[in-house]
Amino acid sequence: MTLLRVQNVVKRFGGLIALHGVSLEVERGEFVAVVGPNGSGKTTLLNVINGVYKPDNGRVYFEGRDVTDLPAYKRAKLGMSRAFQVPRPFPELTVLENVVVGALFNGGYDLAEAREVAKEVLGYVGLAKKVDEPAGRLTFNEMRLLELARALAGRPKLLMLDEVMAGLNPAEIDSMVKLIKRIVEERNIAALSLVEHRMKAVVQLATRVVVMHQGRIVAEGPPDVALNNPLVVEVYLGR
Ligand code: ADP
Repeated sequence: MTLLRVQNVVKRFGGLIALHGVSLEVERGEFVAVVGPNGSGKTTLLNVINGVYKPDNGRVYFEGRDVTDLPAYKRAKLGMSRAFQVPRPFPELTVLENVVVGALFNGGYDLAEAREVAKEVLGYVGLAKKVDEPAGRLTFNEMRLLELARALAGRPKLLMLDEVMAGLNPAEIDSMVKLIKRIVEERNIAALSLVEHRMKAVVQLATRVVVMHQGRIVAEGPPDVALNNPLVVEVYLGR
């Protein structure tokens, strides 16, 4: 069964139409990169998918279930998990405690299980040595990894990534993308990632690239096809 099905979604802000009937399907095992110029509707699309916004028209289905009217927290419990661009850890809690919260909230674990899961995902993202540190003392890159760990601890089936790569250096981006790919493959889940400017690495490693322009999906395909799209070339490669 199709994991995520976005059907003909329209989203307006007053007189502005941010999404003009967008349809998209995502299967398990896919790492979909959503690219497009500023203002093309990428964030709005993610907000409609995860339940921050209700569309003015169209539906969102998750594992065949119509989730269009469910609030974000209920979608998260179904396995639609979002890691935000600006990490928002509880700074006084330890790294481990931050992830335990994610596991308790969305993963449906009891406290003992949540601790085990939290340790496992922190090892997975490479933060095993930092478990007892207050989250507020992490570097920016480490906070991104913590945000990813928090999302993973909620047992996502669909991991939505909100420009998680912004602000990282090229080496960090490379390892982040590889980590996400590994997560998608090993856990047989899907990732849907917004991609900002000059993030060729992300586009290259995605299994599918969706190109947005003025509130519409204007092209879709494997990375080599997307990288030859004139719009992608202009926006992402600076040519
Ligand atoms: P992107 O993420 O691709 O940069 P957005 O989805 O943020 O694009 O924005 C798409 C369009 O919708 C833009 O014209 C933007 O100004 C508008 N928009 C986004 N969010 C809001 C909002 N909350 N209120 C009004 N307009 C918005």
